[in-house]
This record gives sequence, C-alpha cells and structure tokens, in this order.
Amino acid sequence: MTGTGTSAYGIIGTGFAGTCALWHVVQRLTDPRRTLSLGPSAITIVTVERGPVNGPGYPYAKGNVQLPHRCNNEAGTMGIHGNDFVDWLFESKPRLIKDDPELVLETHPGIDLGDWQPDDGEFYPRALFGRYLEERFQETVKRARTHGIDVQQYVGHDAIDGYPTEQGFAVCLRDLKTGRQFTVDGFDRVLLSTGHWQSKATDALSGHGGYIASPYPPDAMQAAVAEHIQSRCARDERPRVFVQGMGPSGIDAIMTLCGAGEFTYTHDGHIASYQPAVRAGDEPLSIVAGSRCGFFSPVRGPLAPYEPHYLTEDQLAEIRRDHQGHLKIERILELLDKDLCRATAGAAGWNDMQNPRYHCAKDKLTSDLQDSYTGNLIHTIALKARRMRFYSRLAPSDKATYDRFLDTHFIRTAVPMPAANAEKLLALMDAGILTTVRQGYDAPRIAVGEDGGFRITYQGDEGGRATMRADCVVRASAQDFRMENHPSPLVQSLLGRGEIVPHAEEGYATGGIALDARGGYRALKRVGDVCVPSPHLSSYGSLVRFWQHEHNFAAAFVEAAERVADDWIGVATAASPWPAAVDGTGLVSTEKGS
Ligand SMILES: Cc1cc2nc3c(=O)[nH]c(=O)nc-3n(C[C@H](O)[C@H](O)[C@H](O)COP(=O)(O)OP(=O)(O)OC[C@H]3O[C@@H](n4cnc5c(N)ncnc54)[C@H](O)[C@@H]3O)c2cc1C
Repeated sequence: MTGTGTSAYGIIGTGFAGTCALWHVVQRLTDPRRTLSLGPSAITIVTVERGPVNGPGYPYAKGNVQLPHRCNNEAGTMGIHGNDFVDWLFESKPRLIKDDPELVLETHPGIDLGDWQPDDGEFYPRALFGRYLEERFQETVKRARTHGIDVQQYVGHDAIDGYPTEQGFAVCLRDLKTGRQFTVDGFDRVLLSTGHWQSKATDALSGHGGYIASPYPPDAMQAAVAEHIQSRCARDERPRVFVQGMGPSGIDAIMTLCGAGEFTYTHDGHIASYQPAVRAGDEPLSIVAGSRCGFFSPVRGPLAPYEPHYLTEDQLAEIRRDHQGHLKIERILELLDKDLCRATAGAAGWNDMQNPRYHCAKDKLTSDLQDSYTGNLIHTIALKARRMRFYSRLAPSDKATYDRFLDTHFIRTAVPMPAANAEKLLALMDAGILTTVRQGYDAPRIAVGEDGGFRITYQGDEGGRATMRADCVVRASAQDFRMENHPSPLVQSLLGRGEIVPHAEEGYATGGIALDARGGYRALKRVGDVCVPSPHLSSYGSLVRFWQHEHNFAAAFVEAAERVADDWIGVATAASPWPAAVDGTGLVSTEKGS
C-alpha cells in the first residue's frame, strides 16, 4: 500500500494462471536467499475466485469435466513449476490408488494399481489435474501463512470493478451467496487472471430448443440432449446430434455424448471397440462431427526429425528488414511451403496443410495415429512454425488476414490430440456411432427446419452440397475474443474506466487487452489521449492480446507467472519500511477473506 511500508497483492481468478502466480510469488517471498526490505507480516496476498474452489479454474473444474476428458498435453509439461504435476502424482499415489483409482485407470487401463508409475509422457484426466491445482493452491497458502504472510481468500466472490485510489488500487467484490458488495482497497499490484470466457454475443440459433452453445458443463449438455431427443427415441427413431467443431472441445463433446457406453481395451491398453449403452431394440445416438475443413487434428507423438531450413529466424529478420519491422504472412507461407516440400520430398506443401488430401476424417485419423509413433512431418513443421510466435510481429493487415483465414489451419495442424482420444474416435466410427462431415468454408449457416430440427449443409461425396437433419447442435467451435463481447462486469468496468484497453493496431482490434509493448505483463491504461503501463494491473491468459496464437499452453503460463512474480517482488524489495498508517497490513476492507 502506497507509503505505508506494506505490500498488498491481489490475484483475481485462481485457475491455472492465478495458482501459478500465487506459487511463484510465495516462492520468492519465502526464499531464504532473497533479501526483502519488508518482513513477511507486512505482506498481504488477496485471492478472489468466483467459483467454489481455488485452483482448477475452467477446464479442470469438477463441474466442467467428466472422466474421459483428458489433458491435451503430457503430464511432464503441465506443472505450475518444473515437473511438479508428476511429482504430485508420485506424492499422492497411495491416496489416489485408494480413493480415486478410476482417475489412474482411465490413463493406464488394466494395470495393477500397485505397479503404477506416474508417467511424464502420459495424458491424465483433467479432473485429476484439477485436484492437483486445488491441493497445490492450498499448500501454497499454508506455506505463506507459516512464514507470516497474510493470505486472504475470497472464494464464491465475483470481482466486479476496480479503480486507482490514494491507497493504491481498489477492487469491488460481490459475495455470490449473499449478494453483498464491498471494496478491498490498497493493492500495490493486481493480477487479472480471469481466464477463459464465453462471448456474450449470441448467434442466430441461440435460444432455440436443442441448440447447446457450449459442451461445458458436460452434465448440462448431456441433460439438454437427453431431454431434446426423448420424443424421437419414443418413436423408435435414431436421434442425431451434430457437434460443430472438431478441435479439443468438439472431442470433449463427443466423449461426453458417448460416455454412457463402454470402450473395451486390448491386453496392452489400446482401445479395441465401443459398445453403446442402449436397451435391446433401441437405436443408439448418432453423433455427427463437422467443421469447415472436416478433419480432426493430428495425434500427439514424438516430433519428426526435421529442422526448418527455410522458415528460420534469420529469414524472418530479413522479411522484417524489407517491411519496416513487420512480418508479411505471404512470405511466411512461402517459406513454410518450401519446408513442407523439402521435408516430404515434394509430396506435401502449404496446400496440403489447408486442405489435407484425405478422402475423409477417418482416413486421416488412421494415418495420423500411425504417424504418431514415428513423427508426423506436417504437424512437426506447423508446430515449429507456430512456436516461432510470428503472429505478434505480423503487419496489422496481415494479422487480420491470419485471424480470418489462416489461424484455423495452424491450430488444426499444430495442436494435436492424445493418441487415446484418436483410438476412441476410431472405435466410435467403427461402431457406427460417429461420422464426420466437411461443411466447407462458404457453407450456409445451420438453419432450423419447419419441424424444429436443424438443417446442416455439408459437402457431399461428389463435392456438391448436401443437407442433413439433426435433433441437437452442440457448438464446440472457436472463441470470439472481441473485448466488447466479454461478459464480465469487471472487464467491462475496467475497459470503461480506461484501466485496461483493447489491443488495436492501425485500427485492427486483435482481440484481448493491450500490454506494455516493452515486454512483461503490465496492462496498458488510458491517460488522456495516450496509453501508458498501468502502475497496478498485470494480466496474462485469454484476456490478453496474442495469447491464443502464441501462448495458450501450460509452460507459457508458468513463464508469465515468473515474470509477474519478479515484477511484484520488486515492490517488496523497494517498499520503504515506513510505519503503517492503518492497522495490521496495508489493506482497507470492511470484510476479511477466509
Ligand atoms: C476445455 C479446455 C481444455 C484445455 N485443456 C488444456 C490442456 O490440457 N493443457 C493445457 O496446457 N491447456 C489447456 N487448456 C488451455 C487453458 O486455457 C490453460 O491451460 C489454463 O488452464 C487457463 O487457465 P486460466 O487460469 O488462465 O483460466 P481459467 O481456467 O478460465 O481460470 C480463470 C478463473 O478466474 C475466475 N474468474 C473469472 N473472472 C472472475 C471475476 N471477475 N471474479 C472472480 N473470479 C473470476 C474463473 O471462475 C476461473 O476459475 C484448455 C482450455 C480449455 C478451455
């Protein structure tokens, strides 16, 4: 708090991003090798979480996952620091085996649990990862308190507004149980780690019976589908659900829809078949997955042994020299095309990344699964291209082109699925439960027929347009990052006050808020006609510009948390130990968190 010899930090949103921040800040504050000018008792950390618990956030929350929903990344890459998730699995092994064996067996089917060795390279259920985050959060709070740091947790509280005051920065909270509102004032630093958000913009199908705008929470989606297909089942007709989107959320939706049935396994733990859960004589659900291109992503495995020869940092530097410091997307695509051709001896190029040359999704998935054992060249090159984080350096007009037309191809090719999911999808196809369609890039929107069913237009086998009817549509497609569509009162208030600003370049709003261009994660705020780094607010995660293109994986969150923690610790190092002007620590509030 300004001028009091105390420091107060606020973390708004305690999913993976907020939990990482807490851990790295506490780690630094309690590191005996560091000399801080403030004693621990002069430091307060306040955490605010709208959900019922700290830690899991959106993708790993109990209510948002079912057992088959796996982490999309290997366990060894998902810790809040180092290999901490796997370390936690080892520490928790006896407890997990005893109390939650299904969370282990989902990833290691058929093993003798006593022999289980947590594996860096495995994909564990997201429910298990949520448990890890929740426990690590509480352990970190305990450790901080043991060192004398005051930690106040507000769970079930929504942060609804924030503004600078003489004391520092104030945050207004609403207790979601009682509706009571109050303000906590005197923060030196506040992290906006509010994470995943669902656009408040509605589409033409919103509100129509049978249209499900998100696959989460899965129980709600399942219930909505069950209710809507009742009458069709009663007529002994086969109900059909269309899942729009074939990325990770689409796969989650498919796993939820077939969750009542059972997968069988081979003796070495691979998926052998799928048995739907239907009573004799009943028709099982038909699931149709579709997207503009009609293919699933590749399957995760070792990267192919290829280092880009054309698409290199040197080449990017040359493009920037030619274009006033900007990258040009067509030059990048040319280089990418050359690398793809070189790696595949002319068999594939950029065109194949846009339009994979497979007859259908099943053929591609089968081939991708095979390639995942040895390394998939096209995936490897797309991933390496994406890891160059070129988006932020594109010229503004090229960012617009990339967002509209190209991101979909990079994401689909670079972000793979776990092999277990691929095997399940293939088993569902073999069982006649799952089929796929290609909607094409200029297909008419999904319409509602006179009978209340949905009409989906797709590309038929002969290349012409065909239409099918579905009882339900589950929307599992891309997010909308325009800030005006952010549903949170907090974000809208901060935008309205100019405490954060949408990121725009030459009039093109990329989505997400602007950060200090010199690096770090300080938000930009508006002061008169100019934008300057906020003295109080930092942010990382889906709220900030470029995140989805360049950073949306666990290691990037860890890197950001470390930078923010270093920035915050600077406050504790720099704060002059003047006598506090208020009782206790520097925060002023009518309420105290738990
Ligand atoms: C379905 C799904 C699956 C994913 N799977 C993976 C994966 O397997 N591996 C991977 O690396 N990445 C995955 N990701 C990417 C994921 O976004 C990040 O890994 C990470 O979990 C995001 O964490 P976060 O804390 O930024 O956001 P969130 O998890 O969304 O957490 C933000 C938290 O802030 C709270 N909050 C928001 N606003 C307020 C407010 N005003 N007041 C109080 N609290 C608030 C929310 O309740 C929430 O708990 C997945 C993403 C999704 C959507």
